[in-house]
Amino acid sequence: MSDAVTTDDLVAWIRAFRDAVQEHRDELTALDSAIGDADHGSNMARGLDAVVAKLETPPASPAELFKTVGMTLVSSVGGASGPLYGTFFLRIGPALTDPADATALGAALRAGTEGVVARGKAEPGDKTMVDAQLPALAAWDDAVASGADARGAAAAAAQAAEQGRDATAPLVARKGRASYLGERSAGHIDPGAASSALLFRTLSDTLAARG
Ligand code: ADP
Ligand code: MG
Repeated sequence: MSDAVTTDDLVAWIRAFRDAVQEHRDELTALDSAIGDADHGSNMARGLDAVVAKLETPPASPAELFKTVGMTLVSSVGGASGPLYGTFFLRIGPALTDPADATALGAALRAGTEGVVARGKAEPGDKTMVDAQLPALAAWDDAVASGADARGAAAAAAQAAEQGRDATAPLVARKGRASYLGERSAGHIDPGAASSALLFRTLSDTLAARG
């Protein structure tokens, strides 16, 4: 039943995201040291460790899961990314049932990114996490329109997020700390776009692993 995404699958995704951020922590920090203040890896790792500690008590629904994830990130991450990722997760939860199909999950993820945009006011091409998320959502919808299930849509989204991440390199940052560098921000991948690529890659891996 690869098109029925359950609360347990979503918990597995969040755990996998934590593990991936831990694994890539130094890389995320190195990206942020080039165009920011060298804390994106540690910010995300700290926040997601706090999230995983809270998940010791299993959530009963996607809404409960993502409320815990979002509130914990908002309260435990000091940087811009805490409130932004926190908003992402707070917005996706209420839209989801258990189980959710590919269309419902795609719509919930889109609500999450719309929350990031509402809060941070980033437009496409501003060199932020939005530049990985928006292409991922477009690829998700295209895949679903072509008949893909959640696993197939997540695979397409992960690939598009990674392309979006890489495409941030030549951009000049217009939002967040990196924008203080002006033209000197060009030539480096945006750290938040890199962590958002991990977000979609771990969703894809999680749905692929359960068969
Ligand atoms: P800080 O910039 O406060 O040190 P982090 O280093 O944890 O926070 O996160 C930086 C990332 O946050 C950036 O790489 C970018 O992707 C994202 N970001 C910053 N400002 C915005 C914004 N207004 N909208 C969307 N994303 C943003
Ligand atoms: Mg930073």
